[in-house]
Amino acid sequence: MNALSGVFRSILNNRIPGQVVIQITDRCNARCPQCGMRATESFARSTLETDTIKRMIDAAACRGVQAISFTGGEPLLDLPRLVELIRYAGGAGIPFIRTGTNGFMLAHHEKKGFEDRVSRMVDQLADSPLRNFWISLDSAVDPVHEAMRGFPGVVAGIARALPIFHRAGIYPAVNLGINRNVGGDATRWLNRNDFGSDRAYLERFYSLYVSAFERFYQRAIDLGFTMANTCYPMSIDAAECEQGLSAVYAATTVAKIVRFSPMEKQVLFRALIAVIRRFRSRIRIFSPLCSLEALIRQYGPEHSEQSTYGCRGGVDFFFVNAADGHTYPCGYRGHEDHGPLWDMRIGRLNVPAEADACRQCDWECFRDPSELFGPLLAVFSNPLGLVRRLADEPGALATWAGDLSYYMACGFFNGRRPPDLIKLNRFSSNAAKAGSRPSLILDHNRFNQKLSIP
Ligand code: SF4
Ligand code: SF4
Repeated sequence: MNALSGVFRSILNNRIPGQVVIQITDRCNARCPQCGMRATESFARSTLETDTIKRMIDAAACRGVQAISFTGGEPLLDLPRLVELIRYAGGAGIPFIRTGTNGFMLAHHEKKGFEDRVSRMVDQLADSPLRNFWISLDSAVDPVHEAMRGFPGVVAGIARALPIFHRAGIYPAVNLGINRNVGGDATRWLNRNDFGSDRAYLERFYSLYVSAFERFYQRAIDLGFTMANTCYPMSIDAAECEQGLSAVYAATTVAKIVRFSPMEKQVLFRALIAVIRRFRSRIRIFSPLCSLEALIRQYGPEHSEQSTYGCRGGVDFFFVNAADGHTYPCGYRGHEDHGPLWDMRIGRLNVPAEADACRQCDWECFRDPSELFGPLLAVFSNPLGLVRRLADEPGALATWAGDLSYYMACGFFNGRRPPDLIKLNRFSSNAAKAGSRPSLILDHNRFNQKLSIP
């Protein structure tokens, strides 16, 4: 069964191609302030056995899973084993295999033998069926990123390493986990209490985050990246825990650095859309605009959750936790333990009605593909609902179709292919050409609800 016919068959059954995120270890050598797995945290670390992971891969392949991510902790702490797992997953017929790094191997680039060390690592990855590889970058300001990760000199190391990756046929994606340090001091110290009104605060917030995202994508391009992914803030707070969330993936966090109020999130996602439109002809950017628009609607004053597609976490997508090797609907729903993957009957799991589907977080790994596949599923499973949705949000279909066209121009983000700049150039916006800055248009009446600033 080739990948395309597998996708089509899944959609006819009201399912989308399965994805499993396997946390192979929760060990990490970085110091990220936003993450519960940072090296300075004291807890009993776990690493899944290689044979156990292989058994999971076999189970996933048998159940039609198409995508596996090997995450951590830091996946590259044991590179030979990681490569063995990637090869195993490819051999089992999984076409979309992803992994990435916090970049620790790229720090201290000034030391003798740096390029040889990187080449040996890259050659091992290149000689595997790995499709996508990410390298984290948390800020547009190099020293801020390096301080957050605890890796001095890593940004210059990334710049030296990327040509080595490219020569070997791997085109890494820069991975931004959105946080309040993305623009350095400018975004870090922004405080609602310094403004006389919500409106003044949000306009300043928008303008600073537009600048921060612009600087970030420009820095990524200057470093040599050809692809970018953006993780929406992975926060979880006490209120969300009360509503039933319980983080099993320690990358989810209560840290203020990634906590944004619903109103801030709306403006944050608007800023991101504006900047992506300006940059996506120059660097392949995964984040679909239809997903960002859906999140803006979800966090809007009307909380119009029904104008987003339900997340497929726990239906088609799953998370495997390093601590117990068990499967969960995602990194946030730790109270729903499905046990070992090989004991699960994924195809028999109930697909919740759209109105009951989960929308409790913004985890882009699960929310983005859910939103992208949503209209396709609705054509067969809920055509009337689709018509109603299109009537309520007439622009949504155009945004979705634009995303689809962009994904095609990006070769569906095959990280083993260089960008096709001629195709990408079709997406250069008039605003980008004219060099004009996008502005935030706030309807004050719609935005006058109380802000809850973390
Ligand atoms: S975000 Fe990643 S690199 Fe940073 S501490 Fe957590 S697992 Fe490690
Ligand atoms: S929206 Fe998706 S990723 Fe988030 S809590 Fe729900 S199932 Fe999990």
